[in-house]
This record gives sequence, structure tokens and C-alpha cells, in this order.
Amino acid sequence: MRRACLAELRIVGGLFAAAAAAGYFTGGVLWWLAGAGVLYAALNARNAARQLRWFDDGRDGPPPDAFGLWAEVLRRLYQERREAREAAREAAAHVEQYERSVQALPDGVVILDADLHIRWSNAAAQRLIGLQDPEDRGQHIDNLLRHPEFMDYRRRGELDRFVQIPAPSAPDNVVMVGLVPFSAGQLLLVCRDVTERVRIDRVRRDFLSNVSHELRTPITVLGGYLEMLRDAAAADELPVRWRRPVDAMHDQTIRMRRLVENLLLLSRMESLGHPDAREEIDIDFLAAQVREESRVLSGERDHRIELEVQPGTRVSGSVSEFRAMFSNLVRNAVQYTPAGGLIRIEWRVDDDAAWFVVTDEGEGIESEHWSRLTERFYRVDKGRSREAGGTGLGLAIVKHALMHYDGDLEIESEPGCGSRFACRFPRDIVIHPPASPSGGHAAGADAA
Ligand code: ADP
Repeated sequence: MRRACLAELRIVGGLFAAAAAAGYFTGGVLWWLAGAGVLYAALNARNAARQLRWFDDGRDGPPPDAFGLWAEVLRRLYQERREAREAAREAAAHVEQYERSVQALPDGVVILDADLHIRWSNAAAQRLIGLQDPEDRGQHIDNLLRHPEFMDYRRRGELDRFVQIPAPSAPDNVVMVGLVPFSAGQLLLVCRDVTERVRIDRVRRDFLSNVSHELRTPITVLGGYLEMLRDAAAADELPVRWRRPVDAMHDQTIRMRRLVENLLLLSRMESLGHPDAREEIDIDFLAAQVREESRVLSGERDHRIELEVQPGTRVSGSVSEFRAMFSNLVRNAVQYTPAGGLIRIEWRVDDDAAWFVVTDEGEGIESEHWSRLTERFYRVDKGRSREAGGTGLGLAIVKHALMHYDGDLEIESEPGCGSRFACRFPRDIVIHPPASPSGGHAAGADAA
């Protein structure tokens, strides 16, 4: 900047000094100075005209020749222009690279606006859910993805999970779709082909269920003969040395039968993904039944079993699933609570949920195990579980049954003090008492 001002001053100074000198020697200094002024103005006008022409030409080429301050102004404009062009080129390259990488993704990606109209989709989305680009741009996503499961998912707005639906373009295939908010007023619809995973899952489930079915008959036959042998032992028709092995074999067949039954139940629950029936369940009756079972199971260990059920509750669901949930939790409480310990079974309905809670004064569980307890065959102490007649599947069954009702399992426990397992069900499975408009209800509690 300073250099340009100095150059300009040198030009102006030189021009006027030359005019003054010429005027001094030839006379008429003022005329010479006026002439110099006109010449300076003309040169500036020529610079301005060239600059304008350069602007009109789009400033593509290098700037025209100029002198003094004009030269500096043009140089800077040219430099800025070059930098802006470079930045635009880089940005375009980034956008292109980003677009190419999203196009190359094996997962489908669709950009939707806030009203769920399609703005852009990649090749995988077009293949997986049958979109056409650019023809489908501007279409509402509901016009193209009409599966009830997806509509339901959209209505519920649970954007943190995905749903599986048959691929609209190939109904034998399965796609997992989900919506992900990604910037103000925009959503991404992400989809993935999970056909193979679903097939492998089905093969695994079928295998388990077939093996369990196949085992059922031999175990029943073995159990039957062992029962006969026990009867024979009771009538003193069996040598004494055979009694213990027969009893042990009998206990093991009972365990195997439970294991097979649990495996079959679990694989049926997994394959359904929803309640296997919608019946009206009388919770008073079911809870009383479960308490009786727990008394029988407790036997001589004589646990104190308390039942506190909000009376008159009826829910909509599958009786066998509810029985499986209730009895597995109560059975665990009996199994893992020392003789004479307190076990509390509770049912209550509040404003937005229904709760089935089993609390015990048992051995408790270290917190590091809590998140894994609902995994199949996960046991804190394998030996202890087997000794107690456990199959390692009880809590997995509870979790799967709860999933059918959009419920969840809360676990709290303190080693040496006891545990609390609480099943939380959404309020809408409760038929009676009906939810009042204000969310409250009138029923009281009844301790048994
Ligand atoms: P199991 O048939 O072995 O009881 P579950 O799936 O029902 O299998 O339970 C998994 C494990 O969780 C059990 O092996 C046990 O270690 C622990 N567990 C479950 N319920 C209780 C409880 N009420 N008190 C202490 N430990 C428990």
C-alpha cells in the first residue's frame, strides 16, 4: 500500500515537476501545469476504462497494465479473484468427493426435508427401496414406503431405533430402515439390506427349535421309565444301591425337560416379535397362582412370600407370556434367597405404566453382571444356578416377553442384601382400571 502511494506520488510529482520546468524555460508555467493536470486526468480515465473493460470481460485473464495506485488496486482484485476461484474449486471437489463416497456406500441414504419430502438419494437407496432419482425428488416418503410397520414407526417418532420391513422392490428381501436427524430441518433415511442376517437368524432359531423338539420325546420316555423305577424303589422292588442313581437321573431329566421347554418358548418368542395372543388377563388370579407355585417351590425352606396386588387389574396380552415372566422372576427369587427370607411380589398401575416387581432378601448380584443377566445362559455362578435347578434362560425369556409389549426390565441389587427385578409395561396394555383423562386412577392396594 505504502509502495503504491509512493509510486503514485512519484508519477504526480515527476509530471508536475517536468511541467513546471518546461514552463520555466519556455514561459507560461500555469499552462504547462494545467496541461500536466489534464494529462494526469486522461491517464487515470484510461486506467479506469481498461479496468471497466476487464470487469466486463469477467476478470478471467490477468488485469490490464496500469500505473501507481491503479496498478495496486487491480493487482489486489486479481489476487482475490484467484483465491476465491481456488476456494470454490476446492469446495466443489469436496462436495463431489462426499457425493461419490455416499454413492459408493453399501447402505442406502435418502436426504429428506423437515416435511419428509425426498431431496436426494444414493444408488443403494434406489436399489434397496426402489426409489428413482431424480424422478422421486419432492415426493413424500410415505408415498414410496407404505409398509404399516414403517408408518407406525414414523407415527411414534422413535428416531433412536430402526425397523425391519420387506424391501419394496423385492419383497423376499428384508431391509432395516430408520430416520436420523442430521441438520436443522433435515432428516436422513438410512436403509440396509439385512436379508442374510435375518436368514441366518431364522436358520439358528429353526435349528434350536428342531433340536429341542427332537429331544422332547426321548426325554419324556426316559422320564417315564425313571418314574417307574422310582415307584419300584418305593415298593422295595429295586436294589438299594440303585436308588441314588435313579433319583439323580430323574432330577436330571426334569432339568433337561425344563431346558428344552424354555428353549422352545424362547425360540417361539423370538420368531414372533409380538404377543402370541391378545387375551384379557386377570392379574389377581395370575399373581395368586404364581405365589402358590413359589410356595411349592420354596417347600421346606419356608420363605415368607408377600403378595401386594392392586386389585381388579386386567391387561391385554398373552397369558402364557405373562405367566412365563411372572413365574421366572418369582422362581429366581425363591432359588437365590436363603431359607426363611422375605420375597415380595407386587403389581401396581400408575399414571403412565404398569409394574410387576419382585423383591427378595437373597444373595444379591454385583452391578457388573446386571447388563448381562438377560443373555441366554449367563449366570453369575454356574454351579449355584445348576444346583438350584436353573436353566440360565429365565431372564432371557422375561426380556423377550417384555419386548413384545414394549416394556423393559429394571434390575437393582446389592450383594448380600437382596435384589429387585421390576417389569415396566406401557400403560396402554391395561384394560382395567381405564386411564382417566387426567392420567390418575381410583383403585387401591390389597396386601395378601
Ligand atoms: P437361572 O436359570 O440360572 O436362574 P436366569 O436367566 O433366570 O437363569 O438368571 C440368570 C442369573 O441371574 C442366575 O444364574 C443368577 O446368577 C442371577 N439371578 C437371577 N435372579 C436372581 C436373584 N433374584 N437373586 C440373585 N441372583 C439372581
